Amino acid sequence: MITIALSKGRIFEETVPLLAAAGIVPSEDPESSRKLILGTNRADVRLVIVRATDVPTYVQYGAADLGIAGYDVLLEHGGAGLYQPLDLEIAQCKLMVAVREGFDYFGAVKQGARLRVATKYVESAREHFARKGVHVDLIKLYGSMELAPLVGLADAIVDLVSTGGTLRANQLVAVEHVQDVSSRLVVNQASLKLKRLGVQPIIDAFAQANVHHH
Ligand code: ADP
Ligand code: MG
Repeated sequence: MITIALSKGRIFEETVPLLAAAGIVPSEDPESSRKLILGTNRADVRLVIVRATDVPTYVQYGAADLGIAGYDVLLEHGGAGLYQPLDLEIAQCKLMVAVREGFDYFGAVKQGARLRVATKYVESAREHFARKGVHVDLIKLYGSMELAPLVGLADAIVDLVSTGGTLRANQLVAVEHVQDVSSRLVVNQASLKLKRLGVQPIIDAFAQANVHHH
């Protein structure tokens, strides 16, 4: 049995064509099903539906052989025990620093002010501001980062941006690029050795589909 860990939403939607290229068709739609383990057209392949941030953990411990996770999530996880053979180039976005419209971010940085930064991405943020030599106090949040500068919890946020629509809707502006993000295939290192016959063709099919798509 080959187990693939996926998260609902964007990543699942953009993974369906890749699965199809590997001859794998989910038997149910995770958006409408409440099942956490989904069968496929192949008796030897199943999907487990987990939170995006949990995908690397399931694969690291071998509860899933393969998974698809955002690079944002992988940077926070650290990647221990994971083989990362492919950037699938799906779910593309950018990790950015954003502030309230009118907040002089670069002025504050120039003056050496200590900034309060709210984010789900504490590791990536810590590294970014250290590289820039900016002093920050990081506040860990689990969602709705956009709210933090509006209610005085933080001066800035580090969050994913694609169209910028959510920032604009909350009168925030992106001021600094941290990291390009897309989703990657991750593989359990033991599975790659012990289940190579099952796992490698899936990796190859994803790689092929990716070449054709881009
Ligand atoms: P959750 O709501 O569980 O935090 P999301 O569904 O928002 O997770 O995001 C899952 C993954 O999708 C993220 O880890 C990221 O890699 C990607 N992603 C998030 N937001 C965007 C976006 N605006 N555009 C493209 N990809 C995104
Ligand atoms: Mg979300």
